[in-house]
Amino acid sequence: MDFRFSAQEEAFRREVREFILTEIPQELRWAERDAYGDALWPTVLEARKNLARKGWATMHWPQEHGGQGASPVMQMLLREEMAYWGVPEAIAFDDGPNMIGPTIIQFGSEHLKKTHLPPIARAESYWCQGYTEPGGGSDLAALRSVAVRDGDCYVITGQKDYCSGAARAGWIHYLARTNPEAPRHRGISCFLVDMRSAGIKLRPLDEAHGRSGMLNEVFFDDVRVPVENLLGGEDNGWQVAMSNLNRERGGIENVGYARSLLHDLVVYTRETVRDGKPLFQIPQVRARLAEAAVGIEACRLAAYRVAWLQGQGRVPVYEGSMSKLLGSEMLQRFANLALQVLGLYGPLEPDSRAAPLMGRIEETYVSSVSSTIYMGTSEIQRNIIAQRGLGLPRG
Ligand SMILES: Cc1cc2nc3c(=O)[nH]c(=O)nc-3n(C[C@H](O)[C@H](O)[C@H](O)COP(=O)(O)OP(=O)(O)OC[C@H]3O[C@@H](n4cnc5c(N)ncnc54)[C@H](O)[C@@H]3O)c2cc1C
Repeated sequence: MDFRFSAQEEAFRREVREFILTEIPQELRWAERDAYGDALWPTVLEARKNLARKGWATMHWPQEHGGQGASPVMQMLLREEMAYWGVPEAIAFDDGPNMIGPTIIQFGSEHLKKTHLPPIARAESYWCQGYTEPGGGSDLAALRSVAVRDGDCYVITGQKDYCSGAARAGWIHYLARTNPEAPRHRGISCFLVDMRSAGIKLRPLDEAHGRSGMLNEVFFDDVRVPVENLLGGEDNGWQVAMSNLNRERGGIENVGYARSLLHDLVVYTRETVRDGKPLFQIPQVRARLAEAAVGIEACRLAAYRVAWLQGQGRVPVYEGSMSKLLGSEMLQRFANLALQVLGLYGPLEPDSRAAPLMGRIEETYVSSVSSTIYMGTSEIQRNIIAQRGLGLPRG
Protein backbone atom coordinates (compact mmCIF):
# COMPACT_ATOMS: atom_id res chain seq x y z
CA MET A 1 0.00 0.00 0.00
CA ASP A 2 1.32 3.42 -0.94
CA PHE A 3 -0.59 6.56 0.03
CA ARG A 4 1.63 8.87 -2.01
CA PHE A 5 0.82 10.25 -5.41
CA SER A 6 3.45 9.38 -8.00
CA ALA A 7 5.82 12.03 -9.36
CA GLN A 8 3.83 11.97 -12.60
CA GLU A 9 0.58 12.57 -10.71
CA GLU A 10 2.07 15.42 -8.70
CA ALA A 11 3.41 16.99 -11.89
CA PHE A 12 -0.02 16.68 -13.46
CA ARG A 13 -1.63 18.35 -10.44
CA ARG A 14 0.76 21.30 -10.82
CA GLU A 15 0.01 21.51 -14.53
CA VAL A 16 -3.73 21.52 -13.88
CA ARG A 17 -3.32 24.23 -11.24
CA GLU A 18 -1.32 26.35 -13.67
CA PHE A 19 -3.96 25.83 -16.37
CA ILE A 20 -6.81 26.84 -14.08
CA LEU A 21 -5.03 29.93 -12.84
CA THR A 22 -4.09 31.10 -16.32
CA GLU A 23 -6.80 29.74 -18.65
CA ILE A 24 -10.00 29.79 -16.57
CA PRO A 25 -11.09 33.42 -16.21
CA GLN A 26 -11.07 34.67 -12.64
CA GLU A 27 -14.73 35.73 -12.90
CA LEU A 28 -15.73 32.05 -13.24
CA ARG A 29 -13.99 30.90 -10.10
CA TRP A 30 -16.40 30.36 -7.19
CA ALA A 31 -19.20 31.45 -9.51
CA GLU A 32 -21.28 28.26 -9.41
CA ARG A 33 -24.35 30.27 -8.42
CA ASP A 34 -24.20 32.50 -11.51
CA ALA A 35 -22.52 30.20 -14.02
CA TYR A 36 -25.74 29.31 -15.86
CA GLY A 37 -26.91 32.91 -16.17
CA ASP A 38 -26.76 34.89 -19.42
CA ALA A 39 -23.85 37.03 -18.26
CA LEU A 40 -21.41 34.20 -17.55
CA TRP A 41 -22.58 31.36 -19.78
CA PRO A 42 -20.61 32.44 -22.91
CA THR A 43 -17.43 32.53 -20.77
CA VAL A 44 -18.30 29.10 -19.38
CA LEU A 45 -18.63 27.75 -22.94
CA GLU A 46 -15.24 29.18 -23.88
CA ALA A 47 -13.58 27.68 -20.79
CA ARG A 48 -15.14 24.29 -21.58
CA LYS A 49 -13.60 24.46 -25.04
CA ASN A 50 -10.21 25.38 -23.57
CA LEU A 51 -10.33 22.32 -21.35
CA ALA A 52 -11.38 20.17 -24.30
CA ARG A 53 -8.56 21.51 -26.50
CA LYS A 54 -6.14 20.47 -23.78
CA GLY A 55 -7.64 16.98 -24.09
CA TRP A 56 -8.41 16.85 -20.38
CA ALA A 57 -12.20 16.83 -20.54
CA THR A 58 -12.01 13.33 -22.04
CA MET A 59 -8.58 12.27 -20.78
CA HIS A 60 -10.13 9.15 -19.21
CA TRP A 61 -11.68 7.98 -22.50
CA PRO A 62 -9.93 5.16 -24.38
CA GLN A 63 -7.50 6.33 -27.03
CA GLU A 64 -9.53 4.73 -29.82
CA HIS A 65 -12.31 7.22 -29.00
CA GLY A 66 -10.00 10.22 -28.86
CA GLY A 67 -9.16 10.07 -25.16
CA GLN A 68 -5.78 9.71 -23.49
CA GLY A 69 -6.57 6.49 -21.64
CA ALA A 70 -5.69 8.32 -18.40
CA SER A 71 -6.06 6.45 -15.13
CA PRO A 72 -9.07 7.12 -12.87
CA VAL A 73 -6.64 8.56 -10.28
CA MET A 74 -5.40 11.14 -12.81
CA GLN A 75 -8.97 12.06 -13.64
CA MET A 76 -9.80 12.39 -9.95
CA LEU A 77 -6.81 14.67 -9.49
CA LEU A 78 -8.20 16.90 -12.23
CA ARG A 79 -11.65 16.96 -10.59
CA GLU A 80 -10.25 17.66 -7.15
CA GLU A 81 -8.06 20.49 -8.42
CA MET A 82 -11.00 22.01 -10.34
CA ALA A 83 -13.12 21.94 -7.20
CA TYR A 84 -10.27 23.32 -5.08
CA TRP A 85 -10.07 26.39 -7.30
CA GLY A 86 -13.83 26.80 -7.51
CA VAL A 87 -14.28 25.96 -11.21
CA PRO A 88 -18.04 25.62 -11.94
CA GLU A 89 -19.43 22.15 -12.47
CA ALA A 90 -20.49 22.84 -16.08
CA ILE A 91 -16.77 22.92 -16.85
CA ALA A 92 -15.30 20.66 -14.20
CA PHE A 93 -17.65 17.68 -14.17
CA ASP A 94 -19.70 18.04 -17.30
CA ASP A 95 -22.26 15.33 -18.03
CA GLY A 96 -21.05 14.76 -21.62
CA PRO A 97 -17.44 13.69 -21.04
CA ASN A 98 -18.04 12.18 -17.63
CA MET A 99 -21.42 10.49 -17.75
CA ILE A 100 -23.17 9.99 -21.06
CA GLY A 101 -19.98 9.93 -23.18
CA PRO A 102 -18.47 6.88 -21.42
CA THR A 103 -21.94 5.30 -21.41
CA ILE A 104 -22.22 5.77 -25.18
CA ILE A 105 -18.76 4.18 -25.49
CA GLN A 106 -20.02 1.22 -23.43
CA PHE A 107 -23.50 0.75 -24.89
CA GLY A 108 -23.78 2.82 -28.06
CA SER A 109 -24.08 1.72 -31.68
CA GLU A 110 -21.41 2.86 -34.15
CA HIS A 111 -23.89 5.49 -35.36
CA LEU A 112 -24.35 6.94 -31.86
CA LYS A 113 -20.62 6.90 -31.20
CA LYS A 114 -19.89 8.70 -34.46
CA THR A 115 -22.65 11.24 -33.95
CA HIS A 116 -22.08 12.14 -30.31
CA LEU A 117 -18.56 11.39 -29.13
CA PRO A 118 -16.68 13.96 -31.28
CA PRO A 119 -18.89 16.94 -30.31
CA ILE A 120 -18.75 15.91 -26.65
CA ALA A 121 -14.94 15.67 -26.81
CA ARG A 122 -14.74 19.14 -28.41
CA ALA A 123 -17.15 20.56 -25.81
CA GLU A 124 -19.53 21.53 -28.60
CA SER A 125 -22.51 19.75 -27.07
CA TYR A 126 -23.88 20.09 -23.57
CA TRP A 127 -25.95 17.29 -22.04
CA CYS A 128 -28.38 16.88 -19.18
CA GLN A 129 -29.83 13.86 -17.43
CA GLY A 130 -33.57 13.11 -17.34
CA TYR A 131 -34.05 10.41 -14.70
CA THR A 132 -35.91 11.78 -11.66
CA GLU A 133 -39.68 12.10 -11.89
CA PRO A 134 -42.21 13.77 -9.61
CA GLY A 135 -43.20 11.52 -6.74
CA GLY A 136 -39.88 9.87 -6.06
CA GLY A 137 -36.42 9.93 -7.60
CA SER A 138 -35.07 7.37 -5.15
CA ASP A 139 -37.25 4.64 -6.59
CA LEU A 140 -36.03 5.17 -10.13
CA ALA A 141 -37.56 1.92 -11.39
CA ALA A 142 -41.03 3.34 -10.68
CA LEU A 143 -40.66 5.95 -13.41
CA ARG A 144 -43.82 6.71 -15.39
CA SER A 145 -42.57 8.31 -18.61
CA VAL A 146 -43.72 6.19 -21.52
CA ALA A 147 -42.15 5.55 -24.92
CA VAL A 148 -44.27 3.87 -27.60
CA ARG A 149 -42.83 2.66 -30.90
CA ASP A 150 -44.40 4.27 -33.96
CA GLY A 151 -42.67 3.29 -37.23
CA ASP A 152 -39.09 4.49 -37.18
CA CYS A 153 -39.65 6.62 -34.08
CA TYR A 154 -40.54 6.29 -30.41
CA VAL A 155 -43.13 8.72 -29.09
CA ILE A 156 -42.29 9.80 -25.55
CA THR A 157 -44.56 11.40 -22.97
CA GLY A 158 -43.62 12.19 -19.39
CA GLN A 159 -42.17 14.64 -16.89
CA LYS A 160 -38.73 14.87 -15.32
CA ASP A 161 -37.79 16.86 -12.23
CA TYR A 162 -34.59 18.59 -11.13
CA CYS A 163 -32.77 18.30 -14.46
CA SER A 164 -29.41 20.02 -13.95
CA GLY A 165 -28.45 22.34 -16.77
CA ALA A 166 -31.50 21.48 -18.90
CA ALA A 167 -32.07 25.06 -20.06
CA ARG A 168 -28.55 25.14 -21.52
CA ALA A 169 -28.48 21.57 -22.79
CA GLY A 170 -28.63 20.60 -26.46
CA TRP A 171 -29.26 16.96 -25.56
CA ILE A 172 -30.83 14.93 -22.79
CA HIS A 173 -30.47 11.25 -21.90
CA TYR A 174 -33.96 10.28 -20.95
CA LEU A 175 -35.34 7.17 -19.27
CA ALA A 176 -38.80 5.99 -20.28
CA ARG A 177 -40.84 2.81 -19.94
CA THR A 178 -41.03 0.80 -23.15
CA ASN A 179 -42.57 -2.37 -21.73
CA PRO A 180 -45.29 -1.88 -19.10
CA GLU A 181 -45.79 -5.68 -18.85
CA ALA A 182 -42.20 -6.48 -17.86
CA PRO A 183 -40.91 -6.39 -14.26
CA ARG A 184 -40.18 -2.76 -13.35
CA HIS A 185 -36.43 -2.80 -13.93
CA ARG A 186 -36.67 -4.67 -17.21
CA GLY A 187 -39.15 -2.50 -19.06
CA ILE A 188 -37.15 0.74 -19.18
CA SER A 189 -35.13 2.19 -22.07
CA CYS A 190 -32.69 5.07 -22.41
CA PHE A 191 -33.10 7.60 -25.23
CA LEU A 192 -30.78 10.30 -26.48
CA VAL A 193 -33.05 13.22 -27.29
CA ASP A 194 -32.38 16.50 -29.06
CA MET A 195 -33.67 19.23 -26.74
CA ARG A 196 -34.93 21.18 -29.78
CA SER A 197 -37.46 18.42 -30.56
CA ALA A 198 -41.08 19.47 -30.83
CA GLY A 199 -43.06 18.78 -27.64
CA ILE A 200 -40.36 19.57 -25.05
CA LYS A 201 -41.04 22.31 -22.50
CA LEU A 202 -39.02 23.49 -19.51
CA ARG A 203 -39.94 25.15 -16.24
CA PRO A 204 -37.06 26.61 -14.19
CA LEU A 205 -36.68 25.87 -10.48
CA ASP A 206 -34.94 28.33 -8.16
CA GLU A 207 -32.61 27.04 -5.48
CA ALA A 208 -32.21 28.02 -1.84
CA HIS A 209 -28.80 29.62 -2.31
CA GLY A 210 -30.03 31.81 -5.13
CA ARG A 211 -28.77 29.80 -8.09
CA SER A 212 -31.24 30.30 -10.84
CA GLY A 213 -31.67 28.65 -14.22
CA MET A 214 -29.66 25.54 -13.37
CA LEU A 215 -32.44 23.20 -12.28
CA ASN A 216 -35.47 22.63 -14.46
CA GLU A 217 -38.56 20.53 -14.76
CA VAL A 218 -38.70 19.01 -18.23
CA PHE A 219 -41.99 18.07 -19.89
CA PHE A 220 -42.20 15.67 -22.83
CA ASP A 221 -45.46 15.75 -24.75
CA ASP A 222 -45.54 13.25 -27.66
CA VAL A 223 -41.89 13.86 -28.47
CA ARG A 224 -40.80 11.87 -31.51
CA VAL A 225 -37.37 10.30 -31.15
CA PRO A 226 -35.71 8.32 -33.98
CA VAL A 227 -35.26 4.61 -33.21
CA GLU A 228 -31.50 4.90 -33.70
CA ASN A 229 -31.36 7.20 -30.65
CA LEU A 230 -32.17 4.30 -28.35
CA LEU A 231 -29.06 3.66 -26.25
CA GLY A 232 -28.25 0.10 -25.23
CA GLY A 233 -31.28 -1.56 -26.80
CA GLU A 234 -34.96 -1.70 -25.91
CA ASP A 235 -35.77 -2.51 -22.26
CA ASN A 236 -32.09 -2.34 -21.33
CA GLY A 237 -32.25 1.16 -19.84
CA TRP A 238 -31.72 0.01 -16.26
CA GLN A 239 -28.21 -1.28 -17.07
CA VAL A 240 -27.46 1.94 -18.91
CA ALA A 241 -28.71 4.07 -16.01
CA MET A 242 -26.78 2.11 -13.38
CA SER A 243 -23.61 2.37 -15.42
CA ASN A 244 -24.13 6.14 -15.52
CA LEU A 245 -24.92 6.48 -11.83
CA ASN A 246 -21.88 4.44 -10.81
CA ARG A 247 -19.74 6.99 -12.65
CA GLU A 248 -21.52 9.89 -11.02
CA ARG A 249 -21.24 8.88 -7.38
CA GLY A 250 -18.15 10.17 -5.69
CA GLY A 251 -17.16 12.70 -3.12
CA ILE A 252 -14.09 14.33 -4.56
CA GLU A 253 -15.70 17.66 -5.49
CA ASN A 254 -16.83 18.12 -1.89
CA VAL A 255 -13.31 17.29 -0.74
CA GLY A 256 -11.82 19.85 -3.14
CA TYR A 257 -14.18 22.62 -2.02
CA ALA A 258 -13.71 21.88 1.66
CA ARG A 259 -9.89 21.68 1.43
CA SER A 260 -9.80 25.03 -0.29
CA LEU A 261 -12.17 26.66 2.18
CA LEU A 262 -10.31 25.18 5.15
CA HIS A 263 -7.05 26.58 3.82
CA ASP A 264 -8.56 30.05 3.55
CA LEU A 265 -10.24 29.70 6.92
CA VAL A 266 -6.95 28.87 8.61
CA VAL A 267 -5.37 31.95 7.01
CA TYR A 268 -8.36 33.99 8.19
CA THR A 269 -7.96 32.81 11.80
CA ARG A 270 -4.29 33.80 11.69
CA GLU A 271 -5.04 37.26 10.33
CA THR A 272 -8.17 38.12 12.29
CA VAL A 273 -7.97 39.53 15.80
CA ARG A 274 -10.98 39.37 18.13
CA ASP A 275 -10.99 40.65 21.69
CA GLY A 276 -7.32 41.43 21.41
CA LYS A 277 -6.04 38.07 20.20
CA PRO A 278 -5.87 36.19 16.91
CA LEU A 279 -8.78 33.85 16.32
CA PHE A 280 -6.53 30.81 16.04
CA GLN A 281 -5.55 31.15 19.70
CA ILE A 282 -9.11 30.44 20.83
CA PRO A 283 -9.22 26.73 21.80
CA GLN A 284 -12.71 26.16 20.37
CA VAL A 285 -11.62 27.60 17.01
CA ARG A 286 -8.57 25.34 16.86
CA ALA A 287 -10.71 22.33 17.80
CA ARG A 288 -13.20 23.05 15.04
CA LEU A 289 -10.49 23.52 12.43
CA ALA A 290 -8.86 20.25 13.50
CA GLU A 291 -12.18 18.42 13.34
CA ALA A 292 -12.80 19.78 9.85
CA ALA A 293 -9.34 18.62 8.74
CA VAL A 294 -9.99 15.07 9.98
CA GLY A 295 -13.32 14.85 8.16
CA ILE A 296 -11.85 16.11 4.90
CA GLU A 297 -8.90 13.73 5.01
CA ALA A 298 -11.12 10.68 5.63
CA CYS A 299 -13.30 11.61 2.66
CA ARG A 300 -10.30 12.23 0.45
CA LEU A 301 -8.97 8.74 1.12
CA ALA A 302 -12.38 7.20 0.47
CA ALA A 303 -12.66 9.07 -2.83
CA TYR A 304 -9.22 8.08 -4.09
CA ARG A 305 -9.89 4.50 -3.06
CA VAL A 306 -12.79 4.52 -5.53
CA ALA A 307 -10.47 5.76 -8.28
CA TRP A 308 -7.87 3.17 -7.34
CA LEU A 309 -10.45 0.36 -7.51
CA GLN A 310 -11.60 1.61 -10.92
CA GLY A 311 -7.98 1.54 -12.03
CA GLN A 312 -7.90 -2.13 -11.03
CA GLY A 313 -10.80 -2.74 -13.41
CA ARG A 314 -13.34 -3.11 -10.60
CA VAL A 315 -16.76 -1.45 -10.40
CA PRO A 316 -16.83 0.15 -6.95
CA VAL A 317 -20.57 0.17 -6.33
CA TYR A 318 -20.80 0.37 -2.55
CA GLU A 319 -17.39 2.03 -2.24
CA GLY A 320 -18.72 4.79 -4.53
CA SER A 321 -21.76 5.10 -2.25
CA MET A 322 -19.49 5.32 0.81
CA SER A 323 -17.49 8.09 -0.82
CA LYS A 324 -20.62 9.98 -1.86
CA LEU A 325 -22.15 9.62 1.60
CA LEU A 326 -18.97 10.66 3.40
CA GLY A 327 -18.22 13.57 1.06
CA SER A 328 -21.70 15.08 1.08
CA GLU A 329 -22.24 14.78 4.84
CA MET A 330 -18.70 16.03 5.49
CA LEU A 331 -19.36 19.16 3.42
CA GLN A 332 -22.45 19.97 5.46
CA ARG A 333 -20.60 19.39 8.75
CA PHE A 334 -17.65 21.39 7.50
CA ALA A 335 -19.84 24.37 6.55
CA ASN A 336 -21.45 24.22 9.98
CA LEU A 337 -18.08 24.16 11.78
CA ALA A 338 -16.73 26.92 9.58
CA LEU A 339 -19.74 29.14 10.28
CA GLN A 340 -19.12 28.69 14.00
CA VAL A 341 -15.50 29.76 13.53
CA LEU A 342 -16.61 32.92 11.71
CA GLY A 343 -19.11 33.76 14.45
CA LEU A 344 -21.62 36.49 13.69
CA TYR A 345 -19.83 37.34 10.42
CA GLY A 346 -20.44 33.82 9.13
CA PRO A 347 -24.00 34.19 7.79
CA LEU A 348 -23.13 37.29 5.73
CA GLU A 349 -23.92 36.59 2.09
CA PRO A 350 -21.38 36.85 -0.78
CA ASP A 351 -22.83 40.23 -1.81
CA SER A 352 -21.96 41.77 1.56
CA ARG A 353 -18.69 43.69 1.66
CA ALA A 354 -18.09 42.53 5.24
CA ALA A 355 -18.56 38.83 4.41
CA PRO A 356 -15.41 36.88 5.32
CA LEU A 357 -13.93 34.68 2.56
CA MET A 358 -16.19 36.41 0.01
CA GLY A 359 -19.22 34.76 1.64
CA ARG A 360 -18.14 31.36 0.35
CA ILE A 361 -18.75 29.67 3.69
CA GLU A 362 -22.28 31.02 3.88
CA GLU A 363 -22.91 29.95 0.31
CA THR A 364 -21.52 26.48 0.98
CA TYR A 365 -23.66 26.20 4.11
CA VAL A 366 -26.82 26.77 2.08
CA SER A 367 -25.84 24.99 -1.15
CA SER A 368 -24.49 21.89 0.62
CA VAL A 369 -27.99 21.03 1.81
CA SER A 370 -28.66 19.56 -1.61
CA SER A 371 -25.44 17.53 -1.62
CA THR A 372 -27.07 14.78 0.43
CA ILE A 373 -29.97 14.65 -2.05
CA TYR A 374 -28.60 14.77 -5.59
CA MET A 375 -26.90 11.71 -7.08
CA GLY A 376 -28.99 9.63 -4.66
CA THR A 377 -29.87 10.62 -1.10
CA SER A 378 -27.86 9.61 1.97
CA GLU A 379 -30.56 7.10 2.90
CA ILE A 380 -30.25 5.45 -0.49
CA GLN A 381 -26.43 5.35 -0.21
CA ARG A 382 -26.79 3.66 3.18
CA ASN A 383 -29.20 1.12 1.66
CA ILE A 384 -26.67 0.35 -1.09
CA ILE A 385 -23.84 -0.03 1.43
CA ALA A 386 -25.99 -2.34 3.58
CA GLN A 387 -26.97 -4.50 0.61
CA ARG A 388 -23.92 -4.46 -1.62
CA GLY A 389 -21.25 -3.90 1.02
CA LEU A 390 -22.58 -5.95 3.92
CA GLY A 391 -24.56 -8.45 1.86
CA LEU A 392 -27.79 -7.81 3.76
CA PRO A 393 -31.08 -8.69 2.05
CA ARG A 394 -33.25 -5.77 0.86
CA GLY A 395 -35.13 -4.16 3.78
C1 LIG B 1 -29.25 20.05 -6.97
C2 LIG B 1 -29.91 18.83 -7.56
C3 LIG B 1 -29.58 18.44 -8.85
C4 LIG B 1 -30.20 17.32 -9.42
N1 LIG B 1 -29.91 16.99 -10.72
C5 LIG B 1 -30.60 15.98 -11.31
C6 LIG B 1 -30.42 15.68 -12.69
O1 LIG B 1 -29.63 16.35 -13.38
N2 LIG B 1 -31.15 14.69 -13.25
C7 LIG B 1 -32.03 13.95 -12.53
O2 LIG B 1 -32.63 13.05 -13.09
N3 LIG B 1 -32.23 14.18 -11.20
C8 LIG B 1 -31.53 15.18 -10.58
N4 LIG B 1 -31.74 15.47 -9.26
C9 LIG B 1 -32.73 14.69 -8.52
C10 LIG B 1 -32.15 13.77 -7.48
O3 LIG B 1 -31.50 12.67 -8.10
C11 LIG B 1 -33.31 13.34 -6.57
O4 LIG B 1 -33.71 14.51 -5.85
C12 LIG B 1 -32.93 12.25 -5.61
O5 LIG B 1 -32.68 11.05 -6.30
C13 LIG B 1 -34.04 12.01 -4.57
O6 LIG B 1 -35.28 11.88 -5.19
P1 LIG B 1 -36.50 12.78 -4.70
O7 LIG B 1 -36.06 14.17 -4.54
O8 LIG B 1 -37.64 12.52 -5.61
O9 LIG B 1 -36.83 12.24 -3.23
P2 LIG B 1 -37.67 10.93 -2.85
O10 LIG B 1 -37.18 9.78 -3.64
O11 LIG B 1 -39.13 11.27 -2.95
O12 LIG B 1 -37.27 10.71 -1.35
C14 LIG B 1 -37.83 11.52 -0.28
C15 LIG B 1 -37.14 11.10 1.03
O13 LIG B 1 -37.42 9.69 1.30
C16 LIG B 1 -36.20 8.99 1.48
N5 LIG B 1 -36.31 7.64 0.91
C17 LIG B 1 -36.82 7.32 -0.29
N6 LIG B 1 -36.74 5.98 -0.50
C18 LIG B 1 -36.13 5.47 0.59
C19 LIG B 1 -35.74 4.14 0.98
N7 LIG B 1 -35.95 3.08 0.18
N8 LIG B 1 -35.12 3.97 2.19
C20 LIG B 1 -34.89 5.03 3.01
N9 LIG B 1 -35.25 6.32 2.69
C21 LIG B 1 -35.86 6.52 1.51
C22 LIG B 1 -35.15 9.79 0.71
O14 LIG B 1 -33.85 9.56 1.21
C23 LIG B 1 -35.61 11.23 0.96
O15 LIG B 1 -35.16 11.67 2.22
C24 LIG B 1 -31.14 16.57 -8.66
C25 LIG B 1 -31.45 16.96 -7.35
C26 LIG B 1 -30.86 18.08 -6.80
C27 LIG B 1 -31.23 18.48 -5.40
